[in-house]
Amino acid sequence: MKPVLALVGRPNVGKSTLFNRLTRSRDAIVADFAGLTRDRHYGNGRQGPHEFIAIDTGGFEPDAASGIYKEMAKQTRQAVAEADVVIFVVDARAGLSAQDHDIAKYLRRLGKPTVLAANKAEGMQAGAQLSEFYELGLGEVYPISASHGQGIRDLVELALEPL
Ligand code: GDP
Ligand code: MG
Repeated sequence: MKPVLALVGRPNVGKSTLFNRLTRSRDAIVADFAGLTRDRHYGNGRQGPHEFIAIDTGGFEPDAASGIYKEMAKQTRQAVAEADVVIFVVDARAGLSAQDHDIAKYLRRLGKPTVLAANKAEGMQAGAQLSEFYELGLGEVYPISASHGQGIRDLVELALEPL
């Protein structure tokens, strides 16, 4: 069985862009509209010798009460349940948000292996600007740029290493 990586995070952080890069596909819808990808998308990925399945998800709001957000949260929980490892994507430019804290709490509670990726980090200094993400209590923060293809190989190797 190939390992399964679920991409989780609030809307607009770049999950679909990362999914496309991991799977070299244009399947996932990349948009400036928050939360447009409302479903799960599966794709085959390969990084060097490693093969894996990636799952793209809509934006995650763990406490969403109703409607489309409730459905998105359900889809994301299912993706996380199916995954061997979660890549939790945050937005290095926007900084830490309350939603990020909610998602982190959920992932910590589950105890599922999680790698924290700070996306949109192209041209940023790793130190000061990323330090706030350590507050999420998920360990190391890995700067990546999904759109520029930076840090992706290291991220995937790290995510797959313990499997
Ligand atoms: P999702 O809602 O988390 O799936 O986010 P998308 O993949 O749809 O991307 C949301 C927006 O962020 C789009 O405008 C992307 O072009 C942009 N984006 C994605 N990755 C990067 C990145 O690495 N750097 C920058 N600057 N923008 C990015
Ligand atoms: Mg998306």
